[in-house]
Amino acid sequence: ATPLVTAVSTSIGAKRGLLIRNRAAFESARNLDTVVFDKTGTLTEGEFGITDIQEIGISQERLLEIVYSVEANSEHPIAKGIVKEGKKLNLKTKEVSNFQSLPGKGLKATVEGNEIMIVSPGYIRTQKIYFDQNHYEKLAQEGKTVVFVLQNNTLIGYIALSDIVRETAKEAIKSLKSMNIESIMLTGDNQRVASYVGKILKIDKVIAEVLPQEKSDRIDELIKQGKKVAMTGDGVNDAPSLAKADLGIAIGAGTDVAIESADIILVRSNPLDVVNIIKLSKATYKKMI
Ligand code: ADP
Ligand code: MG
Repeated sequence: ATPLVTAVSTSIGAKRGLLIRNRAAFESARNLDTVVFDKTGTLTEGEFGITDIQEIGISQERLLEIVYSVEANSEHPIAKGIVKEGKKLNLKTKEVSNFQSLPGKGLKATVEGNEIMIVSPGYIRTQKIYFDQNHYEKLAQEGKTVVFVLQNNTLIGYIALSDIVRETAKEAIKSLKSMNIESIMLTGDNQRVASYVGKILKIDKVIAEVLPQEKSDRIDELIKQGKKVAMTGDGVNDAPSLAKADLGIAIGAGTDVAIESADIILVRSNPLDVVNIIKLSKATYKKMI
């Protein structure tokens, strides 16, 4: 049987917008000493707007049409931002086939017989494709996420996008600090962008350019060090680490895969609710002793 206090607290949880799916994990929240957060869509709103476009050997309109058409097949926050702007600009769509998403890296498809890839700077580096490093660094230092567009492995341009840091994320990290809980950012995005956001948030640690499996390995390492770890995320790329953590917390507005892998869902998509989970867990299980 479920002890009465826990039954009551889960309904209090529901009232506060916390959907508790795994009660044992919720109980463990009172002992947490580390909270890991994904960046895009978790610490940030995940609402990207395009800030800069650089076309290379192609017209800007054509570049945008290609990118718009391919991104229309993706659920990633970057894709949603691009599609929104594409609609505003009334861009034409091209026929896309063989669409394939490359988790943590970007995506790939065929457009008018050409292989198109829209990918991260990390991927471009591993392929040793030349790009204007200075311009890129300048954009990244401003906290912008840059995606590179390849046509048959030739760079045809790049697009910079910026996201909004959640004010509530800043408050959450401050509260965690006052509770002696370490906060860590774990992101697939570029190091500079991650550091920029980390500085705004005053987060304890930033780990960037990690692929989905590596995210989960990092959580495993922390657990093996004896840490009690919560992971908070929204994306498909966060699912393995949400499942691995002592407590997996999904952002309600996130993807189904993240939600299915989590122990608790933040219905209001508010990172401050992570702090509320810990407080509620402490209050609930103190009563039981
Ligand atoms: P995060 O951990 O911040 O949520 P992801 O692991 O989802 O980031 O993505 C890592 C990187 O892969 C992005 O910063 C971007 O460069 C690239 N990427 C992922 N999805 C897309 C997409 N749909 N279009 C373009 N680039 C993408
Ligand atoms: Mg994310």
